[in-house]
Amino acid sequence: MLGGYWAAAARGELVVQQCAACERVQWPPRDTCGRCGPAELRWLPVAGTGSLFTWTVVHHTTVAAYADALPFAVGAVELDDAPARMLGRLRGAPPEELEIDMPLEVAFEPVAPGIALPVWQPAGGGPR
Ligand SMILES: [Zn+2]
Repeated sequence: MLGGYWAAAARGELVVQQCAACERVQWPPRDTCGRCGPAELRWLPVAGTGSLFTWTVVHHTTVAAYADALPFAVGAVELDDAPARMLGRLRGAPPEELEIDMPLEVAFEPVAPGIALPVWQPAGGGPR
């Protein structure tokens, strides 16, 4: 079900799920439209900008790849152009500098060949 999402991320594009019948945007993705039920669902590109709704700080991880990044924040980002809040790791600002409603932009971190993970960083700053 999420193949289109990950394919878009690998291209550096953020997408949300949209019903082809009623055009309702839904996030997180589901197998059916929350309004129509069974329907064709497609992937709608979004700008990749939003604001920080809330976050938590991770001080311990069992994932070796993230051990050097500790502590890091994981946030819920309210998208500017779609009714969706996406979860993702926050980078480019230490956790103590995070603020509710701060503007963020998505970036894509390659984690394996052909796979990129969307992460969020302060708008207008940081490496992409
Ligand atoms: Zn629908």
